[in-house]
Amino acid sequence: MTTLVWFRQDLRLADNPALCEAAAKGKVLPLFILEDAKAVGDTHPLTGASHWWLHHSLAALKKALPGLVLRKGDPRLILPHLVEEMGLEAVYWNRCYEPHAIARDSDIKADLKAKGIEVRSFKAALLHEPFELKTKTGGPYKVYSPFWRAAKEIEVPEALPKPETIEVVSGCGSDDLESFSLLPKRPDWAKGWDVLWSPGEEGASRRLSGFLKDGLTGYGELRNRPDLPNVSRLSPHLHFGEISPRQVWHETLRHLEQAPKDEGDGWKFLSELAWREFSYHLLYHFPKLPEENWKPTFDAYPWRDSAEDLKAWQLGQTGYPIVDAGMRELWQTGWMHNRVRMIVASFLIKHLRLHWHHGEEWFRDTLVDADLANNSASWQWVAGSGADAAPYFRIFNPMTQGGKFDPEGDYVRKWVPELAKLDTAYLHAPFDAPEAALRKAGVELGKTYPKPIVDHTKARQAALDGYEAVKEAG
Ligand code: FAD
Repeated sequence: MTTLVWFRQDLRLADNPALCEAAAKGKVLPLFILEDAKAVGDTHPLTGASHWWLHHSLAALKKALPGLVLRKGDPRLILPHLVEEMGLEAVYWNRCYEPHAIARDSDIKADLKAKGIEVRSFKAALLHEPFELKTKTGGPYKVYSPFWRAAKEIEVPEALPKPETIEVVSGCGSDDLESFSLLPKRPDWAKGWDVLWSPGEEGASRRLSGFLKDGLTGYGELRNRPDLPNVSRLSPHLHFGEISPRQVWHETLRHLEQAPKDEGDGWKFLSELAWREFSYHLLYHFPKLPEENWKPTFDAYPWRDSAEDLKAWQLGQTGYPIVDAGMRELWQTGWMHNRVRMIVASFLIKHLRLHWHHGEEWFRDTLVDADLANNSASWQWVAGSGADAAPYFRIFNPMTQGGKFDPEGDYVRKWVPELAKLDTAYLHAPFDAPEAALRKAGVELGKTYPKPIVDHTKARQAALDGYEAVKEAG
């Protein structure tokens, strides 16, 4: 039997159930399709930084599986065509959960089945299917804590090893990876990223073992410190499926040995992995999450419109150092620390009162880990409009957040070098620094570093005033 294995967000050989099953049954035709977003109805396509990652991830997969066939276009047309051309009997894939992907897959499944082809899909991207986990009343979870309480009690099967042999069919033409044009050219804004990141299965596995060895101790507390290396940075690897959550789960448990359940750094790390599961759970049950406020009362919020303020935020030129550091880290590395993501998101939504859609879109373009479920759920969480969201009136004070989570100012100094010489006491609020301290550090506000684009106290009050409209709509 020859099976087409359609790789999507599972760019790995180990713990890949579709591949394992196909390889055990006979020959395999491994395929990846660069999709035409419009044709498949993908309203939130990945672009920029994610495309850089995808290029390198595909290159790594092709190296590990030289027979990988690359195609570009609409899978609804490509798959039936290939099945016929190559005389295939079965098509397997691992499930995706984006609304357009679910619709696409069910169309393809129905079409191929009607032609007598065996079609099977497998769980590989999540620990628990969003339709498996249900509340006591049988509905979906809307609050994270009971979700985690339920999820952590469910036995997670061991990860599957890489198939011992994969017999790949030959004779099927492939596009050239370069023809996908995924890499930036002029300008090459990703210069140097290959030193920061190692896309692909091997890189993912190294990242996990390195983190378990050197970063996990203290994770519970230090994961909030953007100046310290105590988070895993596994998010892009998880998004592209270069490592499975099941592999992460079991490797972590093995590392913990006998640590009591839900205690200590290791379990804190697993509980963060469960936030990813929760985001997917929400997206599956509320497919409008990327577009619509989960709480419709937020439709009444009086958003501002300012291309100038949006640009200042995107470029890291707001005059608030912790915000600017985060936005520049994002632009220069394709990634931003979670604590800082929360701070910059709160700033966009509350200080600038610009719609969270603008933030979601910018993150989607610039993050290497851009992920529809995590990105939409997280933006709505910060906005207060989401399921189990932070209350709207919790408005992060960028100066307090900076002082608490970047106490020595190392993070700000790294990403906002024009403030590097400023005394730590003023680093998170240069606008409050005495003229002499600024002069000594070579800082001239409005010249070498921007003056704040909004006044914190006034902006905070305006945000709270805007929230009145939401309360009235409730
Ligand atoms: P670690 O702390 O090492 O956690 C391990 C894994 O758990 C992560 O790789 C991730 O898969 C998952 N995880 C951790 N925290 C969260 C969380 N709060 N929500 C969901 N999953 C989590 N994450 C994305 O993967 N893609 C996105 O597009 C994305 N957009 C975000 C937008 C905003 C506004 C905010 C506040 C958060 C967003 N996150 C997103 C969640 C989180 O910031 C990242 O998953 C995390 O920073 C990745 O770093 P890490 O791998 O070192 O995390």
